[in-house]
Amino acid sequence: MRLCCIVTEANLQAGFYGRRLSRGSCMMNAFSWIFLAALAASVMVRLWLAWRQIQSVTVHRGQVPEAFAGKIPAEAHRRAADYTLSKTRQSRVELVYDSLLLLGWTLGGGLQWLDELWRAAGWGGINTGVAVMLSAFAIMALLELPFSLYHTFVIEARFGFNKTSPRTYFADLIKQALLLLALGAPLAWAALWLMQESGTLWWLYLWLLWSGFSLLMLWAYPAVIAPLFNRFTVLDNKQLKQRIQTLLDRCGFRSKGIYVMDGSRRSGHGNAYFTGMGRNKRIVFFDTLLESLEADEIEAVLAHELGHFKRKHVQKRIVVMMLGSLIGLALLGWLIQQPWFYHGLGVTQASNHLALMLFLMVSPVFTLFLQPLSAWFSRRHEFEADDYAAAQSSAADLVRALVKMYRENASTLTPDPLYSAFYDSHPPAPVRVAHLSTKLG
Ligand SMILES: [Zn+2]
Repeated sequence: MRLCCIVTEANLQAGFYGRRLSRGSCMMNAFSWIFLAALAASVMVRLWLAWRQIQSVTVHRGQVPEAFAGKIPAEAHRRAADYTLSKTRQSRVELVYDSLLLLGWTLGGGLQWLDELWRAAGWGGINTGVAVMLSAFAIMALLELPFSLYHTFVIEARFGFNKTSPRTYFADLIKQALLLLALGAPLAWAALWLMQESGTLWWLYLWLLWSGFSLLMLWAYPAVIAPLFNRFTVLDNKQLKQRIQTLLDRCGFRSKGIYVMDGSRRSGHGNAYFTGMGRNKRIVFFDTLLESLEADEIEAVLAHELGHFKRKHVQKRIVVMMLGSLIGLALLGWLIQQPWFYHGLGVTQASNHLALMLFLMVSPVFTLFLQPLSAWFSRRHEFEADDYAAAQSSAADLVRALVKMYRENASTLTPDPLYSAFYDSHPPAPVRVAHLSTKLG
């Protein structure tokens, strides 16, 4: 006997409902209403936050904040405001569109329809499940395409940031699709196999698989996946070489090098980041950022990234992510046995793959309150990395580098405090600069 703990089709038919509901018919239950209420609440909260952001940026558009007077020209400030407004307006439309799509997939019967389509092909259990999952992800990506195109070729282009040609853009899309197929298909197959064959504790085994996969991806990303999209070269700055080496030695960072990425192939935005783990850990500068920074400022930015390494921020993030996925999968282990979970979300035929899909699609609606928590943790890490940079390098140099980045990336200096507290992974510009200013020796 199979030990898997899903509700079979027979149970569903003879269970709470007693009759087979026809395709696409509405089968709302109490859970449907809870889902609808949660979705409506999350959409309203996010629209309200976007409205606040638009107000805050509009009101302060005409005046450069005092802390940045003389550092950011009035024209650059207005450009940053207009850019922020364009992006926030697009995000509002996208939010409503995404919510309607989610309703279409669930209560509208989209997933049920896709499932029946693949079942008719007669491939059998796990293969059907993989086909449903991959095709659902592909359709979702296609439906998001208009927004991505508008963002890149209209908004980014209007503000002079877009450097992507349609050719590069579509080559990226094809590479992403192939990656999804190469990595996603075996992962989905393994997950569905575990759910079917490994007994009541399948969710624990699936968690182990997922954690192993995430660690592998984190390790492989800098060396294997990122180079599929960009070229990385070792940072070779003669002025800085000795200082960089001293800094690296002092904080015990052993790596093959500090890298420069050809970000200018796609975008005018500049950034730097710390990624990977073990021997594959790297600090990466965008070429666009390096062009505008002086040697001292590069050193300060590097010290900030080393602060993330020194304070073990990647490891902490991994632990939180793993705990989160363990709780999520344990919850799914219970939900998968509840007929109301499927029926309440528009699915008549229970199956492992539909339980997974419904869970992946619907859980963000219920976990919206975690967003500000995760943003808060992330901002705390940024402060810690800034403190490290101030101690090991120079707070004044880091402030100068940040101001250049704010100006060149057209980042708003006047975000709404609540909007920023809810979403921002980095402290808003004025708070961050004020914090660093207290470290000026
Ligand atoms: Zn950082």
